[in-house]
Amino acid sequence: MSLQRRAEELGIRYFLISYTDLFGVSRAKLVPASAIDEISKAGASFAGFATWLDLTPADPDVFAVPDPGSLIQLPWKPEVGWLAADPWMNGKPIAHAPRNVLKSSLARAAAKGYEMRTGVECEFFLLTPDGLAISDPRDTQSKPCYDQMALMRRYDLIAEICDAIELLGWEPYQNDHEDANGQFEINWKYAEALKTADRMTFFKYLVKTLAEKHGLRATFMPKPFSNLTGNGCHVHASVWDRETGKNLFVGNDELGMSPLSYHFLGGMLHSAEGMCAITNPTVNSYRRIRAATTTSGATWSPNTITYGGNNRTHMIRIPDAGRIELRLSDGAANAYLMPAAVLEAGLDGIENRRDPGRPLDENVYEKPQLTSQHKLPENLLDALRNFEKCSVLRQGLGEEFATAYLKLKQAEWRDYNSHVSAWEKDRTLDC
Ligand SMILES: [Mg+2]
Repeated sequence: MSLQRRAEELGIRYFLISYTDLFGVSRAKLVPASAIDEISKAGASFAGFATWLDLTPADPDVFAVPDPGSLIQLPWKPEVGWLAADPWMNGKPIAHAPRNVLKSSLARAAAKGYEMRTGVECEFFLLTPDGLAISDPRDTQSKPCYDQMALMRRYDLIAEICDAIELLGWEPYQNDHEDANGQFEINWKYAEALKTADRMTFFKYLVKTLAEKHGLRATFMPKPFSNLTGNGCHVHASVWDRETGKNLFVGNDELGMSPLSYHFLGGMLHSAEGMCAITNPTVNSYRRIRAATTTSGATWSPNTITYGGNNRTHMIRIPDAGRIELRLSDGAANAYLMPAAVLEAGLDGIENRRDPGRPLDENVYEKPQLTSQHKLPENLLDALRNFEKCSVLRQGLGEEFATAYLKLKQAEWRDYNSHVSAWEKDRTLDC
């Protein structure tokens, strides 16, 4: 059925044709339903250089071609339909555009008979509209996780978000106050990786919009406050057999995992130092991992390239039979590039039968000496250098992507590095 017909049936007056750029920003055009069939054939046109893609002002139009299967009616304004789109230029998909990168990785996995399913835990803070302070002045406990009073003071907003994703059929199952003051998490059911990536993109839009409606500001920034736990975006992943529909991670060892799942996990450990450039993509990301202990007593984010069973101090946790949880990734991670990097690292692990070794049961926060050789990168520059050297991810995600991403991210690092901070002045003014 054409989008125009669906618009008539659903009462949609406008479509948001939306694509995600390399820095995770949603870029959109608002197209009236009367024009949608015409526009969706070639795609909505954009000047690509005006967004975070590796293009120049001289390049021709980027056409964002909407995926009709991704249609989401805005729960707070049902007359608008959101569509995830794939950027094209010169008659072909732009190889470095994030949704195209993920689709290529998924297609490669599909050719081997695999389907990756993911669930994401997008933590966020609710701040005052200027973004400077936690919005609830009474949310001050040193261990605020699961605090019933602080959760219920934000009931109106949290319930509105949860109702919205229930209406969309995402099957939400819990909401909570997280480990930092002002921090929350809303969980919904896992799905095929592209569907989860589209949903994660829409979720961030939804949360930010509904927070604004309530006079608040939501942020997914990895570490908005240096003394508080940061915003993770944990990814739960499993690989399924496309033919039999069986979860290939389920096995019968003591953690309920299969040999294939350990190879996948071994691949993630193998490429972790480079993967950080994708899963922890901002300067601010590195204030969350390898961070000093927070006021709650733990950062809940990893310091080391290690894995364990049901143990939250490691980069990867096996919480339950048949899936792994990557605890490394943060709220700034691109919804499409993050699962693509996980999948490429994991597929390399399967192909090369990478051995992750035995799971560590220790609290690695307290035993850094155990893993002194397996530290995560200290900052974005280190991560970018690691990514540059990581042939698995470069080849997996594609040279065109790697070149474009490194170019834009290295420029971002130089921009950051050129700023003189208040901290530097304090330390150096009287040198
Ligand atoms: Mg959490």
